[in-house]
Amino acid sequence: AGDSGDFDSEVETVCPYCGVGCQLSLKVKDGSIRSVEGINGPANENRLCVKGRFGFDYIDHPHRLTRPLIRRDDAPPKGLNVDPGNPLTHFREASWDEALDAAANGLAKLREEAGTRVAGFGSAKCSNEEAYLFQKLIRQGFGHNNVDHCTRLCHASSVAALLENVGSGAVTATFNEIENADVAIVIGCNPMENHPVAATYFKQFVKRGGKLIVMDPRGHGMKRFASHMLQFRPGADVSLLNAIMHVIVEEELYDRQYIAAMTENWEAMKDHLAGFPPEAMAEACGIAPDVLRDVARTFAGAQAAMIFWGMGVSQHVHGTDNARCLISLALMTGQVGRPGTGLHPLRGQNNVQGASDAGLIPMFLPDYQSVTDDGVRSAFTEVWGSEDFSARKGLTVVEIMDAVHEGSIRGMYILGENPAMSDPDVEHARAALASLEHLVVQDIFLTETACYADVILPSSAWYEKTGTVTNTNRQVQMGRPAVSPPGEAKEDWWIEVELARRLGLGWSYGHPREIFAEMKLNMPSLANITWERLEKSAVTYPSLSPDDPGQAIVFGDGFPREDGRARFTPANVIPPDEVPDAEYPFVLITGRQLEHWHTGSMTRRATVLDAVEPEANCSLHPRTLRDLGVEAGEYIRLTTRRGSVTVMARSDRAVAEGNVFLPFAYVEAAANILTNAALDPYGKIPEFKFAAVRAEKVAPV
Ligand code: SF4
Repeated sequence: AGDSGDFDSEVETVCPYCGVGCQLSLKVKDGSIRSVEGINGPANENRLCVKGRFGFDYIDHPHRLTRPLIRRDDAPPKGLNVDPGNPLTHFREASWDEALDAAANGLAKLREEAGTRVAGFGSAKCSNEEAYLFQKLIRQGFGHNNVDHCTRLCHASSVAALLENVGSGAVTATFNEIENADVAIVIGCNPMENHPVAATYFKQFVKRGGKLIVMDPRGHGMKRFASHMLQFRPGADVSLLNAIMHVIVEEELYDRQYIAAMTENWEAMKDHLAGFPPEAMAEACGIAPDVLRDVARTFAGAQAAMIFWGMGVSQHVHGTDNARCLISLALMTGQVGRPGTGLHPLRGQNNVQGASDAGLIPMFLPDYQSVTDDGVRSAFTEVWGSEDFSARKGLTVVEIMDAVHEGSIRGMYILGENPAMSDPDVEHARAALASLEHLVVQDIFLTETACYADVILPSSAWYEKTGTVTNTNRQVQMGRPAVSPPGEAKEDWWIEVELARRLGLGWSYGHPREIFAEMKLNMPSLANITWERLEKSAVTYPSLSPDDPGQAIVFGDGFPREDGRARFTPANVIPPDEVPDAEYPFVLITGRQLEHWHTGSMTRRATVLDAVEPEANCSLHPRTLRDLGVEAGEYIRLTTRRGSVTVMARSDRAVAEGNVFLPFAYVEAAANILTNAALDPYGKIPEFKFAAVRAEKVAPV
């Protein structure tokens, strides 16, 4: 922080939106942020996108929650029928003591009842310390592992495949390493909208002569920079990737030495790929055999190559198989562990990497240490000074909602997540939330989820708190408060501590640095990383010494698996759970757009961003619109087996004929009313990227 003539203070922190983790400077005057400037962070080198630069004034929105709220005895039945600007129709204001007592007593009462389980959703928008406390509160306080967060809706399948095959769930190289690559694959992601600053590094790579291979069912902005653009059929990832790998085997383009020294199960992989010649796969994936062969030769011929992917890969019932294929492609060509090589799932939220590392996952304690391992649990309970807790893996996000419907979970604590918008088949999730006996929601706005709460605890926005975050590059960075939370709102860690004390856990943390110090005791990834170092600069984990800024590239000399070798896991073609038919003839693909973030609770309250994209919209190919008799700007009704939404139609040649792209940030046309809750069996991630949908013209709404 420092002073400048025009502002009262300038505070250096990290952007609260995507996993790129841009560092920025907040210019503060008279207690409010007036402007934002990019600074020289390791992931952004002074750059920012429109969200980081202009998406800050949501923190001053009149909808901010400023006092704890308790549901009124005479409130109408639970539902979305609460005005976020006037929650007092359904809730009454309460003191912190009263609200925390009510929150804790309701959860403690359920804890005492045999068989009753309380589940928790933590947040990837909170700090590492807050994520760590949240999972500890559920495990220590309730004795089980029913704790999860939005990684389950994002990259859980990528993490499952990475853990299985390379022994670590994080990226093997920073995205900035693309500057040392000569070929890169970007598949199932749209970085110009979802990771815009990372996209600038990809564009510079092309400018320097790098070959960019873009693979996606949508022909998005990176297409202009691509040497190869493969606009393949939705859901055909495994056919496509196996065909490319088939060519590498058939033409013996693989790296024999690397495979022999660093991998296992190669022979089985080779045999498996024999069944996927490009000529047989071309129709399934919609890409000509000669293009598949050219891509295989280009990638295998690279000196150094990287693979980047996003939720177009992960959000399928075969998401883990998709990621397995990408890992196999990198391994067979020896493209891991050197400058300009690596596997990089572009993480979504600003702290989804850190929240996952901190153990906000039902099967893992911090640093992906299994809850089923007695030694692991006892190491944690020794530090926590508590009794052992369940050795059973907990339920995941969608499974928890099913358990609520079945009655085995009757209370929830939800911090900063919005399942009433973000869950698949969201009416199912909303009905679950409405049926809970006790729901505690901690957030900065009266989100759609908070509408169902019994107690609402007003918390702090990212620019109002102290804590560390970890970006997609494994870079741990310090977040600093620029302004105070409004009214009586509090930092999330403080609320968690107060709640835990009332649940009898005896916590006494006085500052996030004390929580960070506890995390280090059982998180090897934080070795050599101290709070004091982070106050001076970002550190990438692993850091090998107190002076090492961290390892941008890992696994050059072996993998963190039992035998030190990475594994090839063959993948078969599994069709989408729901395929188009005469009644629902189109494919629905959901996703984000540049100006809006996730369920819209922040960006739709940010003046500039909402002015640019004020209305729910969907995109279709002009010929699809013509066939429907719809002009761009008119309204269409989209219907799946789960429900309907009405939305303004845009004409977009990037969307293939027969596909519909629908952003999920708009409550008035909530995309997840339509989506399918079918899960990938390994990552337990829903199939957000494929549902059968009908589209029809309607009168303006
Ligand atoms: Fe923020 Fe991501 Fe944009 Fe950077 S690229 S400014 S982290 S939203």
